[in-house]
Amino acid sequence: MKTPLESFRGLSPAEKAAAATGLGALALGLCVLFAKSGRQDVAPAIASGAPIRPASPAPAGVAPALWQLLAQINAAWPARNKASDGIMGDASHQARASDHNTGLALDVTLDKDAGPDLDELAAALLEDSRVTYVIWRARIANRDIQSGAWRPYSGANPHNHHLHVSIRASARDDVQPWNLKPSRA
Ligand SMILES: [Zn+2]
Repeated sequence: MKTPLESFRGLSPAEKAAAATGLGALALGLCVLFAKSGRQDVAPAIASGAPIRPASPAPAGVAPALWQLLAQINAAWPARNKASDGIMGDASHQARASDHNTGLALDVTLDKDAGPDLDELAAALLEDSRVTYVIWRARIANRDIQSGAWRPYSGANPHNHHLHVSIRASARDDVQPWNLKPSRA
C-alpha cells in the first residue's frame, strides 16, 4: 500500500490538479501540515509533495535506510517525545552484541499523545523485507521465524517504552520510502 504522499509523487501537473480535487486533497493537506511543522530534520521538499527525505546525510555508522525511516516518523509525528530514541549504541550497548553497534537498529519512543501507535508501526515495519525483527512490549517478531508471528521476549529490557526495529545489513543503503501504516488492519 502506498501513502497518499507517495501516490501523489510523479504525477503530471494536470494529473496533480485532478488528484487534488479527490484523493489527492488528503495528500495536499498532509503537505501543508508538514510544512507548517517547520522541522529542521526534514527536507523542505515536503511542501511540494515530494517524498520525505532526511535533510542531512546519515551520520557515520548509521544505516541510511533507518535515517530515512526516522525522517518519515519525525515528519508524521512532529511533536513526539524522542527520549528513548536511538540508533547508535551507547557505552553499555557497545559492550555487547547489538544491531545498534552497527547502525542497523532504531528505537522509537512511546508517546501515547503525540507519537505513533507503536503496535501499528510495528505491524507496518514487519511487512517490509528490509526488516529482520522488531521488539515491543516483551514480544519479538522476526520475519524469518514463524512468518513474523509475535513470540514472548525475555530480554533484560522488556521494551515497554520504545519499539526496537532491526534491519538486514543488505538493506543498509535502501532508502526507498517506508510505509508507516500496515496494509492489513
Ligand atoms: Zn533498540
